[in-house]
Amino acid sequence: MEQFRQAIVQGAAGEEIGALALPETYRGAVVRRDEVDMFAGLASGDKDPRKSLHVDEVPVPDLAPDEAYVAVMAGAINFNTVWTSIFEPLPTFGFLDRLGRESAWGARHALDYHVVGSDSSGVVLRVGSAVRNWRPGDRVVIHCNYVDDQDPSAHDDSMLAANQRIWGFETNFGGLAELTVVKANQLMPKPTYLSWEEAAVNALCNSTSYRMLVSRNGAAMAQGDRVLIWGATGGLGGYAVQHVLNGGGVPIGVVSSAEKAELLHDLGVEAVIDRRAAGYRFWADEHTQDEAEWRRFGKDVRALIGDDPDIVFEHPGRQTMGASVFACRRGGTVVTCAATSGYMIEYDNRHLWMKLKTIKGSHFANYREAWDANQLICQGRVVPTLSAVYDLDAVGEAAYQVHHNLHEGKIAVLCLAPEEGLGIDDPELRARVGEERITAFRRHGA
Ligand code: NAP
Repeated sequence: MEQFRQAIVQGAAGEEIGALALPETYRGAVVRRDEVDMFAGLASGDKDPRKSLHVDEVPVPDLAPDEAYVAVMAGAINFNTVWTSIFEPLPTFGFLDRLGRESAWGARHALDYHVVGSDSSGVVLRVGSAVRNWRPGDRVVIHCNYVDDQDPSAHDDSMLAANQRIWGFETNFGGLAELTVVKANQLMPKPTYLSWEEAAVNALCNSTSYRMLVSRNGAAMAQGDRVLIWGATGGLGGYAVQHVLNGGGVPIGVVSSAEKAELLHDLGVEAVIDRRAAGYRFWADEHTQDEAEWRRFGKDVRALIGDDPDIVFEHPGRQTMGASVFACRRGGTVVTCAATSGYMIEYDNRHLWMKLKTIKGSHFANYREAWDANQLICQGRVVPTLSAVYDLDAVGEAAYQVHHNLHEGKIAVLCLAPEEGLGIDDPELRARVGEERITAFRRHGA
């Protein structure tokens, strides 16, 4: 891959890049099938991604007609890589085996290693014979919705497709590697004013937050809506806050430290709750929720914004869902995409039906939503939430940081990019968008 690295860094033209010989192998972050039981008996928090994530030299797979090889300049850590690396709730090899049974091309994925990663920026190296819109040399970011376009169920909203998958989680050849194999309909233009690592961190979380809040497939936020955002400086929350502010809504951000609260204020969020300082105990014990604590939380929210939130942006799951359903306004919507603290959730149904509230499930985004969310980044209306950068060899440590909630926003991993700060094609646009805004999370994390 070294010659690709050099050609890209030196700004080689697309024809030149397309003429370079492909290597037989590349380096990628993998988990191994023969290690899926390595954490047996340990609590979740003791399962250590630094032990299970390896950087191995793996073979370059064949390319299907509707796919592209992309040289990955940088990737990003998402929570799904944490799940893969601690083999929870299931080892991801089951997903790969199922894909392997689906077709001859699918069979490539069922291997004894899983190259992980669901976010990347990079350069197209080769395209399959059926690819029309992309060429070698194109600078791209990759979204993670992996869709079988021959399945009729994929042709309304592709997130409703019966066999919809997440690239680098439910498929192999993911983005925390020097090279990745993706379907052409995962490609999107790289924002020209961002470095490789700034460009790499957005697609998954920005698109997910966009669908949850902005899209009519999610909560379809309106101007003036009050939106309660859990984890408001986290991977999803850092984009959710921007979507709410852009859309004329009122964000109420919940975080767990004074530093994070300060970062939210810097981002323009006036209503902030430090959940740790407030000391909420929504669960009196493992089996019992405490409604008095829901009420205390709801009162705190009202005191800040004058009313109950129209929308609650949910993802912590078991720890917070009861409080979210309670605090949501009469007729409001709790939109949820995850359950970091546990997926068997509990809420008081009386608060849901008597007050005509809705719980809406949401998962990533279809190509259109991901494209529109990426356009907001390209225009500088939404900016990256990059707070730290690691080398590919330190991918385990990067995943550990996210697993233990030691980070803010997003963490990038340099793959082929030899250093930070490369890949900026439009410094004038960067200046217009504003260095301060683009690096807000980075400066804060430093
Ligand atoms: P993240 O970067 O770790 O941020 C999550 C934030 O949630 C943390 O910063 C933390 O903020 C807050 N949090 C964690 N545990 C909490 C708890 N028990 N109570 C209240 N707040 C808590 O992760 P992320 O990238 O935002 O992802 C969050 C979840 O969504 C993960 O489970 C991930 O797998 C999932 N996800 C799903 C999709 C999808 O398409 N379905 C897409 C992206 C992510 P504070 O400590 O500051 O409060």
